[in-house]
Amino acid sequence: MTTPRLEIDLAGISHNTAALVSRLAVRGIGVTAVAKAVIGAPAVVRTMLDAGAHGIGDSRVATLEAIAGCSTRAPLTLIRSPAPSEVRRAVACAQVSLNTEPVVLALLSAAAIARRAVHDVVLMVELGDLREGLMPEDLIDVVRLVLALPGLGLAGIGGNLACRSGVVPDATNMAVLSALVGQVEAVTGAPLRIVSGGNSASLGWALGAHDTGRVNDLRLGEAILLGIDPLDRSPIAGLRTDAITLVAEVIESKVKPSRPWGQVAQSAFGVAQVTADRGPVAQSILAVGRQDTDPEGLVAPEGMAILAASSDHLVVATPEVLGIGAEVRFRPDYSALLRGMTSPFVATQVVHPM
Ligand SMILES: *Cc1c(COP(=O)(O)O)cnc(C)c1O
Repeated sequence: MTTPRLEIDLAGISHNTAALVSRLAVRGIGVTAVAKAVIGAPAVVRTMLDAGAHGIGDSRVATLEAIAGCSTRAPLTLIRSPAPSEVRRAVACAQVSLNTEPVVLALLSAAAIARRAVHDVVLMVELGDLREGLMPEDLIDVVRLVLALPGLGLAGIGGNLACRSGVVPDATNMAVLSALVGQVEAVTGAPLRIVSGGNSASLGWALGAHDTGRVNDLRLGEAILLGIDPLDRSPIAGLRTDAITLVAEVIESKVKPSRPWGQVAQSAFGVAQVTADRGPVAQSILAVGRQDTDPEGLVAPEGMAILAASSDHLVVATPEVLGIGAEVRFRPDYSALLRGMTSPFVATQVVHPM
């Protein structure tokens, strides 16, 4: 089988989606499954929907177009503000988009009218992480703008934390979002359909002891795919952390000294750590590197240690000499997964189809 490859275990994706959907349902919160880390892989999207996600979100128009082409009937949400150059495509493939810019809203309005359709927008509010979002004091003016623009529907408001600055979703910043819902509804005169309370980093808050206010939706990617809480990268209890595996192949295995010799300057990627002399070690080279994944984001199998990585070679220390052609299985973190999925050199293989 071809290597390197990312194996995606659909049984694991299904388990994680269903577990999060049922835990959040108790709080009145639905799940928009975010497919960007797997670039909208159709089998994964289908599995997430079958397991109870009420819609799919992705940050890329091209990915949503591909998902829409797979004839899913679930609502598709563009979770990054559309660029002006892509609003027409955005309106064609997504029912909903997350927005912060009046200029873009006007363009979405024109694009929706041209299609004789209504495009729903969720206005994102800045809650302190300093990535996307309207400053709270500017929200109502933009709500009025959306109401005035033909072809647009105001679906709701949302927030996003812990992405740029690592700001933790907590009772204080999430209460700000819920309080704004009331202010918006006072203007619209109708309940908002969507109050989107953030990404996987909001799970601790959403499943914690306190009230979740008006939030009725979370946009979840990493927690479903990797079973990990992005705030501290710890496993989420009851979720599978083994749904995705990076498989690489051994191309050299030798017993070599642990310490390099000769005069040492920079290596291919900067200053290399000079290794201590531990005597001879069994070392293998795997045919995978920085062109395929983020080596710093790989967890090696028990007993094996990653020693170094360059563009195309991953050097590992192994308890015994590995056979040439042997496959080694790594657990990727979010960064390693993302890089793997977007590398033209890495195959994707779905296992345990549901
Ligand atoms: C990527 C992203 C998400 C999903 O984040 P995870 O940490 O993978 O759950 C949600 N919302 C927005 C705006 C995003 O960009």
